Amino acid sequence: MSDLTKLTIAAARDALRTGETTSVALTEACLSAIEGADALGAFAHKTPEIAIERAKAADARIAQGDAPDMCGIPVGIKDLFCTEGVASQAASKILEGFTPEYESTVSGQLRDAGAVMLGKLNMDEFAMGSSNETSVYGNAVNPWRAGNSNAALTPGGSSGGSASAVAADLCLAATGTDTGGSIRQPAAFTGIVGLKPTYGRCSRWGIVAFASSLDQAGPMTKTVRDAAIMGRAMMGHDQKDSTSADLPVPDFEAMLTGDIRGKVIGIPKEYRMDGMPDEIEALWSEGTQMLKDAGAEIRDITLPHTKYALPAYYVIAPAEASSNLARYDGVRFGYRAKMAPGDGITEMYEKTRAEGFGPEVKRRIMIGTYVLSAGFYDAYYNRARRVRALIKRDFEQVFADRVDAILTPATPSAAFELGQEVADPVQMYLNDVFTVTVNLAGLPGIAVPTGLDRTGLPLGLQLIGKPWEEGELLNTAYALEAAAGFVEKPARWW
Ligand code: GLN
Repeated sequence: MSDLTKLTIAAARDALRTGETTSVALTEACLSAIEGADALGAFAHKTPEIAIERAKAADARIAQGDAPDMCGIPVGIKDLFCTEGVASQAASKILEGFTPEYESTVSGQLRDAGAVMLGKLNMDEFAMGSSNETSVYGNAVNPWRAGNSNAALTPGGSSGGSASAVAADLCLAATGTDTGGSIRQPAAFTGIVGLKPTYGRCSRWGIVAFASSLDQAGPMTKTVRDAAIMGRAMMGHDQKDSTSADLPVPDFEAMLTGDIRGKVIGIPKEYRMDGMPDEIEALWSEGTQMLKDAGAEIRDITLPHTKYALPAYYVIAPAEASSNLARYDGVRFGYRAKMAPGDGITEMYEKTRAEGFGPEVKRRIMIGTYVLSAGFYDAYYNRARRVRALIKRDFEQVFADRVDAILTPATPSAAFELGQEVADPVQMYLNDVFTVTVNLAGLPGIAVPTGLDRTGLPLGLQLIGKPWEEGELLNTAYALEAAAGFVEKPARWW
């Protein structure tokens, strides 16, 4: 078989079963693609020996019959997931040298299903960012370029390495995490599919915490079918995470009929933002028409508290981050600053944190401690929590009125140039305007590539579903994907 790295999970699974290819062949093809793609900055830690060893084991397991779907599939793992014996540093200097003794539940489930880890993927430091420019490893780069320009574009963030690697066919799929949009925004910027499951679907155990009430892992794949296959392998109850739900995980792939006749799709008027490019507006209308043509009923809806979502998110997420990141003090793991004669424990904490955290992480810690401080707790943190409850109620109301899914743009623009927004944090935060509501309400959301802008860059739409109904959501996304027929790939320059 040629072009092994271009295969979807579904095609590779089938080819592995007919003997047309082997996991070792797939893995070697991916490893050589990775070797030729350093310019993308997607892989931060490569693990070729582990990959070949697991591929051999997967081939043996497939030969015995009855191997799970993910068996033998080469994937990349975001650096936020702790992986046993392999560097896991959340793209931060403060976790330099940290090699966990344990495996995160999600990456462990993939490993146990026989998936082959190719290495750890670049990301924004502690998953804070929308452009993969806050990473200690340097930028990840989008394989897509605009028109005839040679300007390097962001793959989005924080799961920028994951998006770049999947879009450039360095791996068949990757894990991501999404606290405010970090799976869906990079997926939209690179023309791939990104699913953020319902909060509590995937265990957070062993995933470096950013904002614990928002964080959720999910698959980043080439197709909706692949998101169904890989998502199922990542989800499930875990006694080690008290927020993980004790609910059965259905066979999502079996639910992909593409039949959405009679489903009610809500179009929220608040997502029509001032200054939104015409192309995004046009894409949204086209997507709406596609779902209508597929037999869905389109209904205008209102989510009145949407405009408060971004400010609420940028209070809650930093508040939780400032608490979660208090553990990095140079005592137990990772980086420790050099001490001067006479330095005590306080100086060690201060110097380690000053040198170990990057500027965006420090900004979040300062905002977080400020909004949680005794004098401002009610004015900021408690207020944001109340707003969050209202945002959640908006969605509950709409779903109670028999809306099955909500269609919105995934991002307010196509991928922008590296360096363009990083100097202005508020500009960067605006990238999350369509995605953070979903995290605040704990809902499942998926980004589906649906078109190109006039410079030839991918654009995506987002579908938001009811809690625990990822199967339905994936099926609606499947219908949208089929209608949009997005097959474009970036032209290779790296
Ligand atoms: N861009 C958002 C932030 O910086 C979301 C990040 C994420 O989902 N991890 O907080």
